[in-house]
Amino acid sequence: MIKQADVVVIGGGVVGCAIAYNLAKAGAGRIAVIERGYLASGATGRCGAGVRMQWGTETNCLLARESVNMLENLPELLEVNGDIEFKQGGYLLLAYTEKMADQFKKNLTLQNSLAIPARWTTPAEAREIVPHLNTDELLGATFCPKDGHANPFKVTSLYAEAAARLGVRFYTYSEVTGLSTKAGKITTVHTDKGDIATNTVINAAGGYAKMVGRMAGIELPIFPERHEILVTEPVEPMQTPMVMCFYHNLYCQQTPHGSFIMGIGHPDEPETFNTTSSWQFLTEMAKRITKILPPLANLNVIRQWAGLYDMCPDRTPILGPDTNIQGFYTAAGFSGHGFMISPMVGKLMAQTVLGLPTDIPINMFSAERFARGELYIEPSVV
Ligand SMILES: Cc1cc2nc3c(=O)[nH]c(=O)nc-3n(C[C@H](O)[C@H](O)[C@H](O)COP(=O)(O)OP(=O)(O)OC[C@H]3O[C@@H](n4cnc5c(N)ncnc54)[C@H](O)[C@@H]3O)c2cc1C
Repeated sequence: MIKQADVVVIGGGVVGCAIAYNLAKAGAGRIAVIERGYLASGATGRCGAGVRMQWGTETNCLLARESVNMLENLPELLEVNGDIEFKQGGYLLLAYTEKMADQFKKNLTLQNSLAIPARWTTPAEAREIVPHLNTDELLGATFCPKDGHANPFKVTSLYAEAAARLGVRFYTYSEVTGLSTKAGKITTVHTDKGDIATNTVINAAGGYAKMVGRMAGIELPIFPERHEILVTEPVEPMQTPMVMCFYHNLYCQQTPHGSFIMGIGHPDEPETFNTTSSWQFLTEMAKRITKILPPLANLNVIRQWAGLYDMCPDRTPILGPDTNIQGFYTAAGFSGHGFMISPMVGKLMAQTVLGLPTDIPINMFSAERFARGELYIEPSVV
């Protein structure tokens, strides 16, 4: 392991790899990524792979829109060969209450003002898009044909390959065990494989971001929450868009090779690092999904797993420097949508670390917002 670095990125998920690539591209010097497991072994490799631009806050819309633009040409942008399996089959967001329909219509006004091509659909129109959709009790839906899904392992490995070509050192199966500071500045990253002297650290540790913050004496309001997910046997193509429903707290998409991937959120899930699977999830998932997409009752489940959402109280990430410890930056707290915005987060974090103007203002993502009581609440999340 190297003894000195200009920047150490803690976490080899999609966010850490995208940041490392952008830093290297901008000439930030010697960069090391430290990952406890393998690349994408955290939430990234366990996620639902969905990518949508239909958000309820302006900055989230912009982050997603710009990230989609990059995902559309990622191999060319990164100058590496590969296919991230980005399929833009759309997202259909279902509205079951007047309140939700009103919020969706407000979101549409915002999205359309930002050139995001989402539209309102009646239940009948929604059924034209997803023919096996049960429209009972459905008030309508919003649909954006340019949303879709991509392969998180491939996106991460493409960023890592491009970063490695630019000289970034990756240390997998290596754990950051502590951080040292002197006079309020980062000085050393301690790992189980040796120490690295550095004055810049980026905390991209996902569900473990709070633990990494504590190593520097910083208390981040990020907490881990288990989310379960499953995949079915592959069947012939029958569903192009991701179907998402905040009312039933679920999402469901058919992957390019025919399997359905689906998950639900649980409002009572306690704060936990537990990523075991439960049989209760299987029954609850089956109950909720077969109500909305009845023919899926005929599918066999082949695998289930769980991962950690790195939750923030306002479901919006913390991006940027710590104001007390110089050289400590956080990019975490993505609350279930970090994969889809990772291309833009990588770029913005590199700009921030290098003291450059950011393409999109990100001061509202500062951790200081909690002390000021200026939460940036995202209304459209599962
Ligand atoms: C079930 C599920 C479904 C999801 N669906 C979607 C979706 O459809 N679309 C979407 O955009 N997002 C989705 N997400 C959220 C998305 O997966 C995350 O927001 C995103 O992957 C975060 O990436 P990351 O790199 O910040 O974190 P991670 O991928 O968790 O990476 C953090 C890494 O840090 C490492 N680490 C932690 N502590 C240390 C340490 N001390 N030393 C060294 N390494 C350490 C971990 O091993 C881990 O690999 C989902 C998440 C889950 C769990």
